[in-house]
Amino acid sequence: MWGRMVGKQSRPIDLRFLTILISLLFCATSLPVGAQNLAYNTTSKGRVLQGPINVYIIYWFPPGVVADTGIYDGFGSFTIDVDLFFGDKVLPMDVPGVSSSSYLNILTQYPASCGTSACALASAPGAVQLRDSFIERFAYPHAGAANNAGTTANPLTDSDIRDEVQRAIAARNWQIDSNSIVFVVTGVFQPGAVPVEECKGANCTFKGVSFCGYHNSMVVNGVALAYSYLSDASFNTAGCSEGISTALAGHTLSSDREIALLSHEFAEAVTDPVVGTAWVDSAGKEIGDKCNQVPATVLFGGYRFQVQQQWSNATSSCVSSLPTITSVSPASGANTGGYNVTVNGGLFSTFPAGTKFFFNAVPAPSATCTSASSCVVQVPDSHGAAGAVSVTAIAAGFESDDQAPGAKFTYNAPPTCSSQKSCAGHVFGFPDLVLTCEAPVNFFRFAGTPSQTFVGAGSSFTFPLNEVEQKVSACAPGGSCAYFEASELNPSYCGAPPPQSPHYCDDCIHAGGHCITAPTGRKVCVLGVPKAPPH
Ligand SMILES: [Zn+2]
Repeated sequence: MWGRMVGKQSRPIDLRFLTILISLLFCATSLPVGAQNLAYNTTSKGRVLQGPINVYIIYWFPPGVVADTGIYDGFGSFTIDVDLFFGDKVLPMDVPGVSSSSYLNILTQYPASCGTSACALASAPGAVQLRDSFIERFAYPHAGAANNAGTTANPLTDSDIRDEVQRAIAARNWQIDSNSIVFVVTGVFQPGAVPVEECKGANCTFKGVSFCGYHNSMVVNGVALAYSYLSDASFNTAGCSEGISTALAGHTLSSDREIALLSHEFAEAVTDPVVGTAWVDSAGKEIGDKCNQVPATVLFGGYRFQVQQQWSNATSSCVSSLPTITSVSPASGANTGGYNVTVNGGLFSTFPAGTKFFFNAVPAPSATCTSASSCVVQVPDSHGAAGAVSVTAIAAGFESDDQAPGAKFTYNAPPTCSSQKSCAGHVFGFPDLVLTCEAPVNFFRFAGTPSQTFVGAGSSFTFPLNEVEQKVSACAPGGSCAYFEASELNPSYCGAPPPQSPHYCDDCIHAGGHCITAPTGRKVCVLGVPKAPPH
């Protein structure tokens, strides 16, 4: 199974090499941080892709081949997801896609040697553009006597993929350049859901040393062109599940997995288009290989995608955004906020107010970043809410992934208290509010920082008459608070109302107030602030 898990190699490898890769996958986390980082190949000085990156997609589905056997139309939602992922210029709406996302921002860490110019991808609007995609209905080549091309018996080869790329470029007049990527996607046969077999050297998609996809480069019309082959990740026999077991709302599982596979090869094609010549680690792993099958959910222009995480040298870890939050310490605290936690991650701005933090979208009152990887952040008041919330950061216009595993903070649960009205001791008027808690707490009027006022401690407290128009709270000592809207608990009066004088409203107006009629029919005199009616 692990042999299948490392499937997405980028070049033909033999079984022995694969075994080495497997052992590295197991021991990678015990290596010293930094030693694992990607390094630019200063011998090859290979190029990386820069914006605008032009993406072309060939869905190679001859009759009988579909992207997803679980989808009635044969193509599932994958083609739509691809349009939204890259930002499709032909869509009627303006979809930004991966361009200018904090996910693409991960790749900007990896520039190439280009003399005096920067030669790095910038995560900016239009950085990546889907130029064209189409469904290729041509039969697979070299069909054989049994017309079995694309099967295990007669698989497609890498040269078939290259030929199809060249055919499509000519047929559709694609203006490719050295920042272009062409993806070729195959699927499964119907009926029976037999996967389309493709072999690159000794390695094939669904037999022997299997893989899910690869990228490489080829020269077309004198242009060094990145291309990538993607098998059908929905067909899970090759361990191409990408670590994804649940589809996003409105998506199909197979399409989510295929997008994650696409994201792996895309990131590698950008940072190491001529395999092994630009950004790889000491074991030859590329940016995606180091985070193989580690999924994350990201948001591009209002659309969510399940992608694969990518290696970030800034944090020496797999991340789904940059800036990114990898941990919050301590990871829990009182729901009143007002205290500091340390947020660790990468690419924070150390300028004052250069990085802003949010707890469940509520801005943190302050943040001080001592380095690009660590900030001291004041936790905001959750206003009574408890439980885990997402912590996000915005730096240099990029927002961190709100689904990152370490980007969580838990507001501790407030004490368990019950409230009840009490008319004890009142002939007529508003009832008291009595809070009774399971453990000793501190009670406050004017609940919520910074105005709350300590009024008593213990397991029970009676908020007396005429103090009921406020919010009150019961707080664990040094901990979270439970809030109670006292006024809502007091819609009625205690006791039977005494008869009102026929001069009640005249007296009220004479006293400078104005007279209103309560839902009960009684007159109420309002003098500046509402008060209990006079007896
Ligand atoms: Zn890879």
